[in-house]
Amino acid sequence: LISTRVPAPKPWIEAIHAYVPGKSTGADGRPLIKLSANENPLGTSPAALAARASAVEPSLYPDPDSTSLRAALGELHGIDPARILCGTGSGELLGIAANAYAGPGDEVLYVRYGFSLYEIVARRCGATPVIAPDADYGTDVDVLLSMVSDRTRVVFVANPNNPTGSFLPRGEIARLHAALAPEVLLVIDQAYAEYVAPEDDDGALELAASQPNVLVTRTFSKAYGLAGERVGWATGPAGVIEVLNRIRGPFNLNNSAQAVALAAVQDADFVEHSRLHNLDVRASFVRAVEALGNHGLRALPSEANFVLVLFQGALTAEAAYQGLAERGYIVRWLPGQGLPQALRFTIGHARDMDTIAAALGEMAEAAK
Ligand code: PMP
Repeated sequence: LISTRVPAPKPWIEAIHAYVPGKSTGADGRPLIKLSANENPLGTSPAALAARASAVEPSLYPDPDSTSLRAALGELHGIDPARILCGTGSGELLGIAANAYAGPGDEVLYVRYGFSLYEIVARRCGATPVIAPDADYGTDVDVLLSMVSDRTRVVFVANPNNPTGSFLPRGEIARLHAALAPEVLLVIDQAYAEYVAPEDDDGALELAASQPNVLVTRTFSKAYGLAGERVGWATGPAGVIEVLNRIRGPFNLNNSAQAVALAAVQDADFVEHSRLHNLDVRASFVRAVEALGNHGLRALPSEANFVLVLFQGALTAEAAYQGLAERGYIVRWLPGQGLPQALRFTIGHARDMDTIAAALGEMAEAAK
């Protein structure tokens, strides 16, 4: 007899909805130009591509500690490699941080319209997600702090934030940290940090180097153009890194990922070129959307490689999403994240962003 009964997941696991990634095809399965997952339109550093071809023997396990990569990251950022931990994307590190420091009865705090993975990792460890109200789609440190309770164990702040693009300057990050009790882990998720102008640095790495309760996560998926290799890293106090190291996946970075990321770290020019390209194309895209303000379109200020556009006129976000798909582009519509009136556009090549802006203008005119 085959029983139809299956083991029941824990109630807090039952409440989780799977992460929804940016799509690459339209409803009919046609491949579209993908501006839905904040990948780098310039691709990958040529040096990293070359390293991939020469990555070591696949029959052997990789270096379990990603030693060379951690050394290179340490050198680039002036951090002792003992305080660096690599992960299968920064997503793995966000998850194990929640697992290590929060559990049933505890609270994990983040802002409304924060990165959608925070809810999953908070629930996965049995903690209660607590969502602070946003301030015009951004983070207000005082509002966030007003939601801290004696059960708060982890606070997630993405800086810049995805999907809004909002950014907390150095002083606000410092103020947030200063108001948190030392037993609360502040996780500053810097997935998009390489896109921020150096003079606007939020000081997160300095806090992670000097404070007992700050963890910073970074990724190779965005400016380094290596989303497919799944490499992220974190830095924080040695004690926190040591704890996370115990519960990460063993051999969590495969041979190819380690080789490619190492070469990418050594190609600072590619990252800088990506940053400048993004700065330039983002500014002209924002200007083009602002010119459609009379049609109810509003581009939120962004420090990242994407822009969230609100649709408050006759042209709805859903109609624009569909119209763009018909024209060959897939962007991110986020009704599941409470943003049915917004689209997130990854900044791609200038020609594509010009085409998209022109299409938005045509569609808005036709919807009038
Ligand atoms: N943090 C933020 C804010 C992100 O937007 C993303 C990717 N969407 C991640 C973390 C995770 O990226 P990865 O696992 O590829 O490093």
